[in-house]
Amino acid sequence: MERLQRTHHCAELQAGHAGDEVILNGWVHRTRDHGGVRFIDVRDWRGVTQVVVDNDVPADVARVAGELKSEYCVAVRGVVRERPESMRNPEMATGAIEVQAVEILVLSTSDTPPFVIDEKSEARDDLRLKYRYLDLRSFAMQRKLRLRHTVLQATRAFLSQQGFVEIETPTLIRSTPEGARDFLVPSRLHPGQFYALPQSPQLFKQILMVSGFDRYFQVAHCFRDEDARGDRQVEHSQIDLEMSFVSKEDVFAVIEGLMAAVFRAGLDVELQTPFPRLTYHDAMNTYGSDRPDLRFDLPLTDLTEIGRGSQFGVFAQVAEAGGAIKALRVPGAASYSRKQIGELEEVAKTYGAKGLAWMKVGGEADAPILEGGISKFFADQTEAILAPTAAEPGDLLLFVADRWQIATTAAGAVRTRLGADLKLAGDGFRFAWVVDFPLFEWDEEHEAWAAAHHMFTMPQAQYLDALESDPGAVKGELYDLVCNGLELASGSIRIHNAELQSRIFKIVGFSQEEAERRFGFLLDAFRYGPPPHGGIAPGLDRLVMLMAGEDSIREVMAFPKTATGVSPMDDSPSDVDATQLAELGLQLAPRRE
Ligand code: ASP
Repeated sequence: MERLQRTHHCAELQAGHAGDEVILNGWVHRTRDHGGVRFIDVRDWRGVTQVVVDNDVPADVARVAGELKSEYCVAVRGVVRERPESMRNPEMATGAIEVQAVEILVLSTSDTPPFVIDEKSEARDDLRLKYRYLDLRSFAMQRKLRLRHTVLQATRAFLSQQGFVEIETPTLIRSTPEGARDFLVPSRLHPGQFYALPQSPQLFKQILMVSGFDRYFQVAHCFRDEDARGDRQVEHSQIDLEMSFVSKEDVFAVIEGLMAAVFRAGLDVELQTPFPRLTYHDAMNTYGSDRPDLRFDLPLTDLTEIGRGSQFGVFAQVAEAGGAIKALRVPGAASYSRKQIGELEEVAKTYGAKGLAWMKVGGEADAPILEGGISKFFADQTEAILAPTAAEPGDLLLFVADRWQIATTAAGAVRTRLGADLKLAGDGFRFAWVVDFPLFEWDEEHEAWAAAHHMFTMPQAQYLDALESDPGAVKGELYDLVCNGLELASGSIRIHNAELQSRIFKIVGFSQEEAERRFGFLLDAFRYGPPPHGGIAPGLDRLVMLMAGEDSIREVMAFPKTATGVSPMDDSPSDVDATQLAELGLQLAPRRE
């Protein structure tokens, strides 16, 4: 910049600067004309400074000031003066002063922006994404992306200090199985052949262990061609890491240290470590979720035994069939209307429950009675229901009876909804490790066992003999890091033994040929002394979202896509030229609508 380069930023000037000549660079935030005296708020990412153009300025300064519009990029030279006492704005970092303009230079003009750039943009999401460069000028987006930067810097500093080496793995690879669909990239030099974009660097990081890099990390872009569902993005970032000669305790210690370092750097929050541990079974049984929000209690109570002999046919049948009856006590919710209960029932049904039974607790503290809903079937079991649930007069009791998996999941979804409706979750960050996950899941669609996480996870030692005979009972050396109802990371101790790996392939119906074809290179590497190893990959976007108090990862990504994988700003995905297709040896089939 040749002239009028800034001497101060827009949140810097204080009463002590009065009398100084200063130069500000930034954007026109707002202008106001008070009968000849103009006020121009100049903004940069740090804040806003009020510039005053008095009515006795030279004509050319007055002319330029009169032409200024929102989002013009400007340089202003002026003299700082204290505002009169009555005009001070304690809300504003620079509210004690204003800058009396001497010279104004328009560095560039701006079209009328499609929305006002303010603390936080209220514009529609698609508009914010189309004009992302303007959205990113808002203080809120600036703060969030700068928080992301701090998290990244703290991550690199902490992991390097712990002896981790940052190694980049390729973006164009052979398809890596992580359970999602691959994005494919056609090869021009090898017509008819394709690279895949990594769903994660899983195989490469395991190979780095074979290579002797016993502590690796990378901030990795991961690509998954998934259908639009919730708050997913087709590309996201992970803090990917892997370690040799470790048990899961070693991985936990590193991640606990990393989280502590990142929260300290980004939010000045001291996390309590070590984080509590929960087994998958206990998490499901007590909170109905494998990523429970531990900021509030509201536990599920198991009433299967009470249902067993009950006159209420549904409960009796479920108990007889080996299912579970899960109760949720909602304190003080006896006043809920049928409509409110109906809404909660819809939540339960979304998760497979056939219904949501209920009763209310009335009467007095020393003589509680069950009322409404299914209470008539339990007239002589009041104590048996109240004691384990700790319910009191004024409470509502909700019940889901079904297979254990459905009963816990559906009741857990109702718990989550109540947590939000009743604002039960306080501030703060409640981390936990969820451990002892099943290694396999039954895939209803394909009627086959599938790896719950990925195929390279080590089964827990006590199940090794029974892998084939009872896959559903096998627990893996798998762990998730959860916080406030979010899954922040998944990881595992890996298999480093070819024979065990073959057994797993067989159980999930993967032929040896298929395995050789898909990731023979990993199996080859494992023929040369692979060390025992394990790792984990915290999702960077989710972590920053959690820290920023947002509910969408889009809010912490500079250039996210819509739920359907479209980027309205650069208009991708897009058509390509016929010549590009020809070079790649590709022909398009007629488009499916
Ligand atoms: N690659 C795994 C994932 O993307 C993480 C891991 O197991 O380290 O979920």
